[in-house]
Formats: sequence, structure tokens, C-alpha cells
Amino acid sequence: MKVAIDGPSGVGKSTLAKAIANEFNLIYLDTGAMYRMIGLYFLENNLDYECKEEVIKNLRNIHIDLVIDNGIKLLLNGRDVESLIRTHEVAGISSILAQQKEVREKLTALQKDIASKYNVVMDGRDIASNIIPDADVKLYLEADAIVRTKRRMKELEIPSKEFDFIYNKILERDKQDLNREFDPLCIVQDAIVVNTDNMNFEQVKQKVFEIIKSKIAG
Ligand code: C5P
Repeated sequence: MKVAIDGPSGVGKSTLAKAIANEFNLIYLDTGAMYRMIGLYFLENNLDYECKEEVIKNLRNIHIDLVIDNGIKLLLNGRDVESLIRTHEVAGISSILAQQKEVREKLTALQKDIASKYNVVMDGRDIASNIIPDADVKLYLEADAIVRTKRRMKELEIPSKEFDFIYNKILERDKQDLNREFDPLCIVQDAIVVNTDNMNFEQVKQKVFEIIKSKIAG
């Protein structure tokens, strides 16, 4: 059983993916976290993430491992960095690095390997188009950028005066993810598109659980 969830930043993919993993007993893999880990490595080591040669040279020193022990955990060179990768700075750097072919090749190989070994729900930008094109269920979540900004601000308890800043960051990442040369964010032909503009999380969850159950029932 494999479930693919794609969609833009801040649309609620990871919260939904966790709920799906729990309900259908799947392993949840947050592929965005892997791109963020590479971003964090470049940030912490003060490396030029826009220089192709520097990126290729340093990729060799980055090891991301999946540890399964009472749930799953991703480690960056043996470290648990979950609390460090959720910043806008890391997100912005990861989105620039995600445009580079070599970065994508490294993470694509790792993600495909994990998908081949486990029953998974994976979320990201290229899951249905590239990582698991044979997924049983392919979901594409969408929501207006203003709605996504408001949700993100509520989730991270960001003061309302920061609205324009967060909104522009989301638009910038949309642009980068949609227009890049390799594996851009796209809606595959057999994806089920769920627009969440006027739905709360509970409603999205119920709708998606029904979609998955009907797929399982055949
Ligand atoms: O999903 P999240 O916001 O954590 O992803 C961080 C960045 O990683 C995205 O903006 C995107 O550029 C990149 N990404 C990607 N392909 C994926 C997952 C994330 O290019 N499958």
C-alpha cells in the first residue's frame, strides 16, 4: 500500500500524512524534511548553496538515515535535527538546493529505496510524478496562498504584522517549486485533487480517509 501526497508549501500535507499513517498503519516519510536537512547542512557550515560545484562537492558529506524504532526518525549525519529545520531560512535554502539535479538525484534514490521496502505514505512535490508513480492513491492538496499563509501563521503563532513577509515567502517557494527544471511540482493525470480552501482539517481528513478506503475496497 502506497499513498502519495503532493502540493505546495503550507497546504497541510504533513498533518494529513501523519493521520493517514496512523489510520492505515503506514510508515510516514516527510520528503521535504530531507531537503530541509541538506539546507541546514549548508547553513550550519556556511557553504554557498547557489554554487553548483560547492553543492556537488559537499553532497558527498551529507548522510541521511532513516531509523525505525517506535515510529520513524530521520537523522542528518547521525543527528536528530528536527527542531532546527522548520525555520523560514532553512526552507528558503532547501528550495533553492532542490532545484539542483544532483541534490534531487541523491534524495530521489533514497526515497525510492524506502518506498520499495515499506508500506508508505509520502508527502512532497514530486511523489506521484517521480518517487512512487505506481502509488495506490495519489492525492494533490491545494489551497489559496492567502489561506495557506493564515494557517501557517496560526500554526507557528506568528504575529499578524508578519503577514506580508510570510505571504511573500510562500509565493516565492511556490514559484521555485513550480518552475524548476527537474521534477517540478505538478498534478499527475490520475491524481485526486482536494481543494482545502473551505474545509477544516477534520473535514479534509474524513474526505481523504474515504478516498483511501474506497481504493482499498477496489
Ligand atoms: O515540504 P517542505 O516545505 O518541508 O519542503 C521544503 C522544500 O523542499 C520545498 O520548498 C521544495 O523546494 C523541496 N521539496 C522538493 N521535493 C519534495 C519535497 C520538498 O523539491 N519531494
